[in-house]
Amino acid sequence: MIVTSADETLKTIMHKAPVVNYIVAQWEAHVNRKTMIQCKNCQQWGHATTNCNANPVCLKCARSHQTKGCLVPKNAPESELKCTNCGGHHTANNIVCATYQNRLEYMENKKLERQQRNNTTQPRKFREAPAPATNPWKNPPATQETQRIPRSQQSPSYM
Ligand SMILES: [Zn+2]
Ligand SMILES: [Zn+2]
Ligand SMILES: [Zn+2]
Repeated sequence: MIVTSADETLKTIMHKAPVVNYIVAQWEAHVNRKTMIQCKNCQQWGHATTNCNANPVCLKCARSHQTKGCLVPKNAPESELKCTNCGGHHTANNIVCATYQNRLEYMENKKLERQQRNNTTQPRKFREAPAPATNPWKNPPATQETQRIPRSQQSPSYM
């Protein structure tokens, strides 16, 4: 298992490293599956069954009964299935689900945000931040930026 920077996708990794140690690599996103839990009681994403106080919702037909008591047969046509989360014709744990996909995107964005925050090189949009009040360099190079800092902003205890 490897951890990559936020701008790597499964596609870029497969392109860059199709072979690892002379073995053809099979890459798959590990984080997505692991961070996405689905309640087996109410079929909602994001909480475990043990934490669920909701009424049971069927995985297959979205009616309020337990999945194992469902009358919809195992090999029922898609039209008989109903997802409680998005209303589509699939079981509620099917990853084609729009609700699942939205949540996945949300989680990915969250992950990206976290990685950007931890990154030492700040994202471009923060470059315009005001200069710090205390100057960490003893002899700052006389660039235009340092010249623009007013005297009043420099710490009196600096010397
Ligand atoms: Zn639940
Ligand atoms: Zn059912
Ligand atoms: Zn769905």
